[in-house]
Amino acid sequence: MTNTNLTGKTKVLGSTKKKSGNLDIKNITISFGKGSDKVTAVENINLSIEAGSFICILGPSGCGKSTLLNSIAGFVKPTSGNIYLDAKEVSEPGPDRGMVFQQYSLLPWKTTFENILLGPRLAGDLEATEISERLLSMVGLAKYRDHYPSQLSGGMQQRVGIARALATQPGVLLMDEPFGALDAQTRNFMQENLLQVWSETGTTVVFVTHDVDESIFLSDKIIVMGSNPGQIISQFDNELPRPREQELSTSKEFIELKRKCLDVIRTESNKAFDFQNLN
Ligand code: ADP
Ligand code: MG
Repeated sequence: MTNTNLTGKTKVLGSTKKKSGNLDIKNITISFGKGSDKVTAVENINLSIEAGSFICILGPSGCGKSTLLNSIAGFVKPTSGNIYLDAKEVSEPGPDRGMVFQQYSLLPWKTTFENILLGPRLAGDLEATEISERLLSMVGLAKYRDHYPSQLSGGMQQRVGIARALATQPGVLLMDEPFGALDAQTRNFMQENLLQVWSETGTTVVFVTHDVDESIFLSDKIIVMGSNPGQIISQFDNELPRPREQELSTSKEFIELKRKCLDVIRTESNKAFDFQNLN
């Protein structure tokens, strides 16, 4: 379905997949501090992400996942290397990239609907109400339109966060362990809802997690990162059929992919253990 807003501009939310949202990460290294305090959070990361795909970045705590995501968002400038979104170099945050964090970051004095409208309003789009209403329904919160964040559960607040991040119709949705604070059942529900929203919007998703099952359930491709310094150690294409439901996690294909991921992670953890022992 194609939507037309009040200016007559055609909006693509809910229509066929967008062509925008191609990401090219070219040899980025990001260091913090100087001299003996210098920490290299990520090193020599090269990654091409196709428009409309769902990528999971999987790795242990401290391996540089958030740093990498923040550099795509434009919050952190790479020490060297470049990031391009649709062939345009990323140099600062912008409405073409939506971000969802682990901690719910809604404005407590604004209602659900006002929180969702915030992004488009800040970007100067004063007529985004129609898009925001549709996103509200997509995340299943139409009834909670005028509720305040304190009246919503954690899972609901995070769904508002997702709708808010999508309200500017970004080419890329960046998600940093967004379901990490939720209980297992809510997390499963959120994963299914996210896949549904993704299939309707066609936005590229870069989703950071340390949870192997989560990365397999959601992704088209899994990028495994290791630490010291943070780098890509392996990549797996994930061709499990869609649409996906939680029952998938007991299938042979799921378990096979899980074993491959765990093998890489185990080898990497053993290396990290030896590294810590010798230093
Ligand atoms: P992850 O998200 O995988 O847990 P982070 O990207 O948060 O990892 O951190 C990677 C490394 O970079 C860690 O050693 C962390 O302490 C360091 N780091 C991240 N941000 C900063 C910062 N602003 N200043 C100094 N060190 C940082
Ligand atoms: Mg992190």
